[in-house]
Amino acid sequence: MNLRGNGLTQRVARRILGITLASLVAASAVLATSAWLDETERLENLVTQVERAFAPPLTESLWLVDLPLAESQMRALTQIEGIAHVSAKLFTGQQFRFAADASDSQSAFLVRQTTLRHDGRPVATLELAADRRVLVKTVVAHLLQMLTIQALLLALGAYVLFRSVNREAARPLEYAATQLAVWRPGDPAVSLAPPGGGRSDEIATLGAAFGRMQETLAGHMARQEALQHELEEHRDRLAELATTRERTLSYLEGLEHRALTMSTGLISLPREMIAPQIRRSLADICQYAGLDLAGLLEPNSEATVGLECFWTSAESPDLATLPAPLRDDLGHWVRLRQAARGVEILERLDDPGATADGACTAFARLGYRALIALPLQVRDSAYGILILARSRHAPIWPEPEIAFFQLVGQIVASALAQQRALQQLEATRQELESANIELDRMSRTDPLTGLGNRRAFDEARARELSRSRRTNTPLALMLLDVDHFKAYNDTLGHAEGDVCLAAIAALLRDMARRPGDLAARIGGEEFALLLPDTDAAGAERLYAELRQVLARSALPHPASAVGPLLTLSAGIAEYDAASNETYKDFFAACDAALYTAKHAGRDRCVVAVRQAAAAR
Ligand code: GH3
Ligand code: MG
Ligand code: MG
Repeated sequence: MNLRGNGLTQRVARRILGITLASLVAASAVLATSAWLDETERLENLVTQVERAFAPPLTESLWLVDLPLAESQMRALTQIEGIAHVSAKLFTGQQFRFAADASDSQSAFLVRQTTLRHDGRPVATLELAADRRVLVKTVVAHLLQMLTIQALLLALGAYVLFRSVNREAARPLEYAATQLAVWRPGDPAVSLAPPGGGRSDEIATLGAAFGRMQETLAGHMARQEALQHELEEHRDRLAELATTRERTLSYLEGLEHRALTMSTGLISLPREMIAPQIRRSLADICQYAGLDLAGLLEPNSEATVGLECFWTSAESPDLATLPAPLRDDLGHWVRLRQAARGVEILERLDDPGATADGACTAFARLGYRALIALPLQVRDSAYGILILARSRHAPIWPEPEIAFFQLVGQIVASALAQQRALQQLEATRQELESANIELDRMSRTDPLTGLGNRRAFDEARARELSRSRRTNTPLALMLLDVDHFKAYNDTLGHAEGDVCLAAIAALLRDMARRPGDLAARIGGEEFALLLPDTDAAGAERLYAELRQVLARSALPHPASAVGPLLTLSAGIAEYDAASNETYKDFFAACDAALYTAKHAGRDRCVVAVRQAAAAR
């Protein structure tokens, strides 16, 4: 039994030992005192009894002065255990003293002196003393005996207690401690109750309490673990959602950027640039959004549908392969969609249950798997259906993506509306332009003959005059007048006169062969030929030619004084650039020459001769 260490058993053992020793000391004190008193009393009684027993014979012996007897009697007294010494002092003065142990004179106590009397007369004084050593020896012996017994009893008790504590408390506690050391929360295999069971004491209560605590803790652990697991799942899901959201946001940002680029790119574009710009923008968006088709479906007049592809990916099926009946179905669908005006989202086109629609069948046949149809509408005008499609399964069309595509649809619709408006504007402008050209032409054309009129002539002569001055090239003017035309009208009627004028105009038109030449009707039956790069002689030759042609035409003039055929008189003038002649003078000179020709008999030409030119 090792008492070292700080275990429960050792501490209990040490305490028991301490208590035992203290008890022993206390018991020893009590026992010693008790034994001391008892022995003292016994010795006192002994002394009394000895005194009572020996006093009469001793008195007799002394009375008789039988000293040897008295001496032997006294000596016998000292042989009694517990008597230290005995002495007798005779009244004669004689004294006898006998001790149990002659060497020890200190051991006497309880000394009693008695006067021995014989018949009332004192004989001697007897002194008896008890032996202290006997007292001590007895007390010590008694004490030792008692202590031995008590020590044995206490040791036994201590041992039993120690064993009990060890078995009943220390070991179960140690077991529980060992089990607790290896036990982990949630491990039901470890029990704190010591094996053997069947106990119903505090240790068992403790074990049961531990068991309950284990169960409660296990329950808590299980709940905590479940919660932890749930929390982890939530966290994972949250992280996943955050990533998806971030990706979606970044994706939508990209879409937004492209929509903005598309919208700004279409601002103030000329008409012919709009379609290519739509095409470019949609290609960009489609590539970014992973679309395989961006096309415009427009119902045409034949109840079918026209398809314009803005963008097709490499994987995109060829729309030309669509069979005619499906194309008709598509036409019907487009009309319905256009009337409905709302966006239509179709997913899983290849799912027969989801594709009751003819259009779905058509697109599914082409290999598209998901599409979004956006009717393009600006105010009351419809511009067909914008189709955005994927040839593979998209998970879904997400809401923000649809909103974005709707925006794209609106941009495309606006651009198409703008294109249409610009087209109409251009057509109108062209019409206006041709009308203006016609008006302009008409304002410079004589309606009866189709030749240039006075206005055309004035513009041309101003232009040619300055050019002649600038380039110093000759410019000839020929003024022509129908001879006796009044008489012609009077004879054949005004209508015939008009026909005649038109015939003459045709001849004159043929005369104006060179690019700058101009034949114009400048009065009722008066014509002019403006001939750039032509001098007076050239103009004369031209008149001669005209005269011949007219003669060959043989237009009859029943009332002419010149002859039976229609004739023309002409005045010719060459512009005098050297003298910086004014137009007025130039024209007047020509007119004067015509006048001269008339007066000279008509059917001829006269070349104007100016004084300055003549002087040269
Ligand atoms: P002359 O040989 O001196 O030129 O004699 P003339 O009769 O031709 O000259 P005059 O100036 O007296 O007559 C011109 C006539 O031309 C008058 C008019 O009846 C005719 N005339 C002018 N303009 C037109 C026209 O547009 N249509 C027709 N049918 N006749 C016209
Ligand atoms: Mg005239
Ligand atoms: Mg005339």
